[in-house]
Amino acid sequence: MFILFFGTRPGKTRESHLPGVSCPFCSQTGQLKARIQPRYIHIFWIPVYRLSPSELIQCGHCKKAYSKGDCSHEMQEALKKLKNE
Ligand SMILES: [Zn+2]
Repeated sequence: MFILFFGTRPGKTRESHLPGVSCPFCSQTGQLKARIQPRYIHIFWIPVYRLSPSELIQCGHCKKAYSKGDCSHEMQEALKKLKNE
């Protein structure tokens, strides 16, 4: 019997602060933390294709979480910068 081991696998989560970016909810600056998790499609546990990573931003002050669609322009720009590092 042949089984094709194929699926998606999350990569290592990276957490970074977004310095100088203010939270749209409580307007505190420097409290936002981004959690970026890369995802891969793998075949036989070998990553063959990189999917767009899942991203979550949470404010350390008011604990509000933002998914990518909820991000302000400022947050999007900071995220973009993080991912290009
Ligand atoms: Zn906040």
